[in-house]
Amino acid sequence: MPKLQHVTILGATGTIGVNTLDVISQHPHRFEVFALTANQNVDALFSQCQKFNPRYAVMLEEHASEQLSVKLKEAGSPTEVLHGMSALEFVSAHEKVDAVMAAIVGSAGLKPAIAAAKAGKRILLANKETLVMAGSIFMQAVEEGGATLLPIDSEHNAIFQVMPQGKFASLIDGGVKKILLTASGGPFRKASSDELKRVTLKQALNHPNWVMGPKITIDSATLMNKGLEVIEAHWLFNASPAQIEVVVHPQSVIHSMVEYIDGSVLAQLGNPDMRTPIAYALGYPERMQSGVSSLDLFKIARLDFEAPDTQKFPCLRLAFDALKTGGNAAAIMNAANEVAVEAFIKEKIGFTDIPALIESVLENSQIKAVSDLEMLITSDQEARISAEAWVKSFV
Ligand code: NAD
Ligand code: MG
Repeated sequence: MPKLQHVTILGATGTIGVNTLDVISQHPHRFEVFALTANQNVDALFSQCQKFNPRYAVMLEEHASEQLSVKLKEAGSPTEVLHGMSALEFVSAHEKVDAVMAAIVGSAGLKPAIAAAKAGKRILLANKETLVMAGSIFMQAVEEGGATLLPIDSEHNAIFQVMPQGKFASLIDGGVKKILLTASGGPFRKASSDELKRVTLKQALNHPNWVMGPKITIDSATLMNKGLEVIEAHWLFNASPAQIEVVVHPQSVIHSMVEYIDGSVLAQLGNPDMRTPIAYALGYPERMQSGVSSLDLFKIARLDFEAPDTQKFPCLRLAFDALKTGGNAAAIMNAANEVAVEAFIKEKIGFTDIPALIESVLENSQIKAVSDLEMLITSDQEARISAEAWVKSFV
């Protein structure tokens, strides 16, 4: 019988958080929920607390945390309610915690993920923005803290599953030639450049294969999600930009592949359901039930592949360029993207304005080498100011 693991779930009310709790509820003897966190959705966090009885519930917003606290007290719950960024760090680094699911969306997830890394936790990383913004610093914290890093993003989880076992100084030393990062291509794969200009919010929120939070759904439509994942793969697997190839695969059945120097290509396949990577990481190195149904290859019948179109989807090119530039470029790009996506969701800018905004912010920012975390946070904030100004001048 494996040891009981105490788990903190950052971003518990989101798509990944809810799927994580679904998997955990299938294995009540293996996992105990230590802390659940959310931004401001009181009702959702309240019902999760009722079901999982965590020791702590954390909300970013103070006002929301007060409301949650009252509701839990009335219900006779022993869960203690905290609020703010330092509380998110506290429940990520607490000595009682074994594993942390890092599933906050955006750069808000960075500090708690670093706290978990420094405290040597087993980190289940869904929050790709952490690696895009501060890959070098986060990976250093993982190394120094002795943390175990397990990727949740379906592509990176797939790559992790088919990578050679053991530690290697480089991919080539492990016999790996390149990583083939698959992409669904999003809902506008077949749209013309003209059609892209007229894309509505509703169309962009309608992903063909995956059910996800709004930010990553829009990122998938612009292909920025794949761009962020290229940078994520760079940090997780020590892969150079030339060693990462994006392959559009509309069925989202192959979750990514690794090509070895002998010509072998290993892939991980499965239904597009995040409970598979979540269960893999929760149970690692053992396999456990996830609730995901068997892959029906006869029903799928065919698998297609095509090259991505970076003319139509400039975000993918912008991300490759930011990775090649290095320093704070990816942090600037990530911040500009977060502002652009929010402005698109609020219908202040159009779909094709998203890459235009990011490119403009990058051109007007100072690219510097990374010295420390504070410097990256400053770059993030400056890029946000510049991006907000772009949106204002547009409206
Ligand atoms: P979501 O929008 O559904 O949920 C986000 C969660 O983060 C919520 O619990 C919300 O309360 C919390 N949150 C939001 N802003 C916050 C803030 N400022 N401070 C503290 N908490 C905050 O998002 P999601 O789809 O679950 O994605 C979460 C992360 O996982 C993202 O980084 C995303 O890129 C990554 N990811 C998601 C999927 C997926 O299938 N949904 C797949 C791969 C990677
Ligand atoms: Mg992904």
